[in-house]
Amino acid sequence: MTTILALTVKLWLNSFRGFWVNKEDIKTLTRISRSLWGDFDRSLAISEDTLSRIALLRLSDELILERASKSMIERAEKYPPKLLKLTHPFFRMAPIERFLLTTLHIEKWGYSRIARTLGIETSLMESWAWATRIKYCFQEMEAEVEYPRGPSALGNSCPEYNASAPWPQRLLDDELGKRERSFISNHLMACQSCRKLLEVTRKMMFKIEKMIPVDTSPEEMDFATNRIDDVWKSGEALFRPSEVTFGRSLLHFLGRPKVQFILVASAVFCLFWFTRT
Ligand SMILES: [Zn+2]
Repeated sequence: MTTILALTVKLWLNSFRGFWVNKEDIKTLTRISRSLWGDFDRSLAISEDTLSRIALLRLSDELILERASKSMIERAEKYPPKLLKLTHPFFRMAPIERFLLTTLHIEKWGYSRIARTLGIETSLMESWAWATRIKYCFQEMEAEVEYPRGPSALGNSCPEYNASAPWPQRLLDDELGKRERSFISNHLMACQSCRKLLEVTRKMMFKIEKMIPVDTSPEEMDFATNRIDDVWKSGEALFRPSEVTFGRSLLHFLGRPKVQFILVASAVFCLFWFTRT
């Protein structure tokens, strides 16, 4: 009986998913938008506009964010804001590269999520991420950090080093498979040159993270969150009025075949229980 109750509650809660976009996702979207458009006001206006279009589709939180990001990147590529390149070297990078750096370093998205958002193969991510990081750090920013060169000589037990997709990046992005992770962590305890390689890469990654200008003050973030939340809610109210009030959402919920099946099953179970005792 408890299981049936728990299942019903879970189903009901699930029926609310996607109605209101998650506040953490709004913050992520605000930073992604900022990486594409630079100034706060413009980023907010474009996030609002994009989300109000996406409100038409009934998607999960994760998909809303991915669709909105993709749509904003396409828009930034089509209509790049004039003079944006002058505000910070970051904006000399292509919109898709700025999105990549922001999601990797600030939002800590995994390779598969970024690849899914952009509609590319996950296997391309490693070398693309590496090339973009090197380009941003040393070409655009001319940052004063050590260049992460590969090892001059590989020891017998050192992990294979691919210069366009090196293992230290994979490790720092938390993208190592279980076996590779345990092999590398054991190896690092014994090999000084691999530890050095990892350290140099870590410093470069840290530097890049500090050089991504998507910082938004807590006040701006609260303002953006409330504004976008309002836009989302009014979109929901406009396109799905029957699901907005509690009573109506309950009626809609009870009307779902899966829920009706659970209710009938519970009734049969109760009847059986009472007649038995
Ligand atoms: Zn080694």
